[in-house]
Amino acid sequence: MRRWSELAERVAATTRTSEKTGLLAEYLRTLDDGALPIAVVFLTGRPFPEADQRATGIGWATIANAVAQVGGADRASLAAAYDRHSDLAAAVGDVLEGVGHAPSPEAGPSLGEVAATFAAIEAASGPAKKASLLAGLLAGSDPRTARGIVRVLSGELRIGLREGLVEAAIAKAFDRPLDAVKRAGMLTGDIGRTAELAREDRLDTAELTLFHPLKFMLASPAEDAAEILKRLGPTVWVEDKYDGIRCQLHRLGREVRLYSRDLHDVSGQFPEIVEGAREVPWDGILDGEILAFRDDAVLPFIALQARLGRKDPPSALRAEVPVIFVAFDLLGVGTGPDDDLDADARTVTPLLETPLQERRRLLESLALPAAGEGGAFALSHLSTADSIDGLEAAFSEARARRNEGLMVKDPSSAYSPGRRGYGWLKMKKALATIDCVVVGVEVGHGKRHGVLADYAFAVRDEAHDQLVTIGKAYSGLTDAEIAAMTRWFDDHTVSRHGRYRVVEPTVVVEVAFDVILRSNRHRSGFALRFPRIARLRLDKDASEADTLETVRALYEGLQAGAEHLVTAGARTAATDVASRPANVTRSRVRP
Ligand code: AMP
Repeated sequence: MRRWSELAERVAATTRTSEKTGLLAEYLRTLDDGALPIAVVFLTGRPFPEADQRATGIGWATIANAVAQVGGADRASLAAAYDRHSDLAAAVGDVLEGVGHAPSPEAGPSLGEVAATFAAIEAASGPAKKASLLAGLLAGSDPRTARGIVRVLSGELRIGLREGLVEAAIAKAFDRPLDAVKRAGMLTGDIGRTAELAREDRLDTAELTLFHPLKFMLASPAEDAAEILKRLGPTVWVEDKYDGIRCQLHRLGREVRLYSRDLHDVSGQFPEIVEGAREVPWDGILDGEILAFRDDAVLPFIALQARLGRKDPPSALRAEVPVIFVAFDLLGVGTGPDDDLDADARTVTPLLETPLQERRRLLESLALPAAGEGGAFALSHLSTADSIDGLEAAFSEARARRNEGLMVKDPSSAYSPGRRGYGWLKMKKALATIDCVVVGVEVGHGKRHGVLADYAFAVRDEAHDQLVTIGKAYSGLTDAEIAAMTRWFDDHTVSRHGRYRVVEPTVVVEVAFDVILRSNRHRSGFALRFPRIARLRLDKDASEADTLETVRALYEGLQAGAEHLVTAGARTAATDVASRPANVTRSRVRP
């Protein structure tokens, strides 16, 4: 682990991509079989592979507690160190150095031992047990090794690495074509496994594996119809943008699993979809959106919220808020059910590189059992457009069907897991919202006195691998949501400055606004006019928040005269906030 930590620091010290790749490749070549996949997964800033259902469940409070057990340093000195660095790993290193914690670097834990401790922390129940396991690990680690451990645990590497760079390093380390590495990464969904296949020269054996969720293909925001046609035209595919939750459905025989956007297994929450999928005559993987749907109409997102996070929902709730799966993509398909075949013998042909046009044709040929006819499925509404008027008319029609806006797709595009490319563009509420990370909170005023109801939020500055503030707003969340978030922010306060608290930057909120302005008030260099929190995005993590680049593009679009579009959209979002009933909350609050 010490060598991994040293490498992380060397990678952080250079901004040159080729140097980073070179350092990584050289390091990866030196690792033995057991260490290679662990090191690679750690390099993506995760204690476990991305599609792994496990999470350590450790927050800053537990890390602070563990550090206190090792060095006797109190929480205040960790907070002070954090204020100096804005980086938890650096703060932990400082505190341990400060108390003279100096075990021999050579005797520190190996990568395998660190991975095993992470697994034990995940399995342990309660923050006290988790903290003592971590304290045990840190006790044997010199400050530099401890920094590396905390980098991985906190999910914040801050060394300027993206997964693409790690893939490039794997290709270079083992002298394999980058395309082959990317393809294997896409199919296995596991970068550690991909590194092993690269080393063994077996990248071509990578397979699409059912019940290993693939990362979802993402859409880029588009400003308006003109931009969409310019990027994807002359003729584009237009689907309704449904306001539900993204879901990947895997089926093999009678085994069905549903995965959420953060790759968690949510099958237990939607039994009607699982039961419906058991009856279909094929194996494969669908991509789609789960919606609340009753009496032939989509119910608003607020209705679906009552179902989120509830395993085995009671039948009254199922009757009140029935859900359906709206399929819009097919990622793999296999032979029909053959009772003579055991599950392992069934194969699924990957369709990721097949053009969307063909994937859609195959999807339609599956004849999914329709909602309203005893099934739980629907196909996304698809049409084509080749003019600004056509796209705007489709937008209004989608809104009239109570959907959020449009997803515009290039019919020749491949499915690129985890990538936010230009194959899919989203046109929603004319882009009057951006997803931001909450970085600070304050107690509110009046009725909201005593709860943490005022949020400061930031967008991602990708070029500098940091968060930059863009605004503050009173929360537009419900009382129940604010109460739940207050508890969470209480547990994840990093430091206090009078009324203002710096909090762990992991909660994403969708912020509505009227106009973007240039301003020196916030670090982003921009400010939002009339910002308001439209909703919590607990399905997104900080890495999925919008970027400074997006804000800049929106601002430039505004300057170029698209102002009427943005303000019109903002009014829609504001109405949504105002009409939100006060009695619904999402039950999953992320640690
Ligand atoms: P956003 O969450 O605003 O970044 O928008 C992207 C999300 O829109 C996707 O992750 C899906 O959950 C959702 N979505 C709704 N309808 C569609 C559709 N027809 N095609 C693709 N994604 C869709």
